[in-house]
Amino acid sequence: MANGIINIIKVKRGRLMKKIEFVDLKAQNELIGRQIKQAVDQVISHGKFIMGPEVFDLEKELCNFTGSQYAVSCASGTDALLMSLMALGIGPGDAVFTTPFTFIATAEVIRLLGAVPVFVDIDGDTFNLDPDKLDKAIAEVRLGKKLNMGCIIPVDIFGLPADYGEINKIAAKYGLKVIGDGAQSLGSRIGNTCACSLTDISTTSFFPAKPLGCYGDGGAIFTNNEDFYEKLVSIRLHGKGNHKYDNVRLGINGRLDTIQAAILIEKLKIFEGELKTRDEIASKYRAAIGEQVRTQKIPEDCTSAWAQFSFVTEKREKIVRILQARDVPCAIYYPKPLHLQKAFENLRYKKGDLPVSEAVAESILSLPMHPYLSNDQVAYISNAMLDALN
Ligand SMILES: *Cc1c(COP(=O)(O)O)cnc(C)c1O
Repeated sequence: MANGIINIIKVKRGRLMKKIEFVDLKAQNELIGRQIKQAVDQVISHGKFIMGPEVFDLEKELCNFTGSQYAVSCASGTDALLMSLMALGIGPGDAVFTTPFTFIATAEVIRLLGAVPVFVDIDGDTFNLDPDKLDKAIAEVRLGKKLNMGCIIPVDIFGLPADYGEINKIAAKYGLKVIGDGAQSLGSRIGNTCACSLTDISTTSFFPAKPLGCYGDGGAIFTNNEDFYEKLVSIRLHGKGNHKYDNVRLGINGRLDTIQAAILIEKLKIFEGELKTRDEIASKYRAAIGEQVRTQKIPEDCTSAWAQFSFVTEKREKIVRILQARDVPCAIYYPKPLHLQKAFENLRYKKGDLPVSEAVAESILSLPMHPYLSNDQVAYISNAMLDALN
């Protein structure tokens, strides 16, 4: 990316190939950059930079896209989670059940509200929250009586929806609400339903590298519950009541910029096609290397948004070395599960507490994944992988 003008080119058996990016935002901009510039120019002309008309247009489009009754845009995926917890009234002493195999934001917001993340181990095949372990963890906390019952935050890791069928049953059994952290999974489905309409509240992120990204920070919250919707809209604007200077609860400044909304409206127009291409690339990767490494298992009724294409392997070090030598970028999401992070040391977890998450963190690797990878590039990456594995 640093090399803005000269588009680095690789020579491969006499053929030229564009340098492989882990996520290629430039290629997307080449496709719809003109429309995006126009949309941004329009915002600059009308000057409604905060809560301008594009924000509400985007929310309508997001409802159409997801089938959710309500969409509340906001400033980031992290704020989306924070606002959702606030809307549920989660606070000090509440247990919030979540996965340690995720980005820090998921659990950070729990702690910021004084609530207590209770980390539950993942399934070794899907890398998502394991429903059986969730049930056990909730039962234990309830029996222990030290914490109040808060809620559940499953994460759709790498774009794959969590097992909401089972998780919702468990939630109902204990009377807990579910916030789906869909920061990586906008566009994913279980059956014909968007994953984000399957929970009480669900959140997403428009961070540039997410499947649907803007040109800065952004996020959104989805719900079918009118009461939650009204609370979320209030929390987004400092806990407003009937108007901005009538404050009925504590809130935050959680708004999405109008310019970002305008950009997202343009990007949403090509998003369905991009999701399809991501899925095709994932199928090619799986066909090439699925026998040699354990790729993330996608249950039959699910589609993934493929935020990442990830697999576990004992040969990670060797693979990273060979990919790097061949200019194939790769990344480790996530090298350390949250229960072992210093930020959570006062929760007193230790190594061995959540063995599946720990083992996956030690062997996970992600390959380049974006809809602008050419067939040549996918073949090149797959061949580099096969060479590394053999
Ligand atoms: C990216 C991400 C977030 C945070 O989103 P931001 O928009 O960066 O604040 C939260 N949870 C998960 C799982 C994420 O991947």
